[in-house]
Amino acid sequence: MPLYEYSCPSCGFKFEELKRMDERLSARCPKCGATAEKALSSFAAVVGDGGGSGGNCGSDAGSCCSCGSGNCQG
Ligand SMILES: [Zn+2]
Repeated sequence: MPLYEYSCPSCGFKFEELKRMDERLSARCPKCGATAEKALSSFAAVVGDGGGSGGNCGSDAGSCCSCGSGNCQG
């Protein structure tokens, strides 16, 4: 079974659980018992609602972000 990451909307606790495909959308928070929803990967979650201005290095590769690769997703 794949491992899914969840984030509890009630207490903010993040945890991972092995789930079947048809059970992956929700899990019970081990801390407070609330229903936690499936979280995106930690990478995507950090970027989240960034405002939509970044992440498009385009032709100026390496000049718009600190990663230097010109291929950042941030
Ligand atoms: Zn919780």
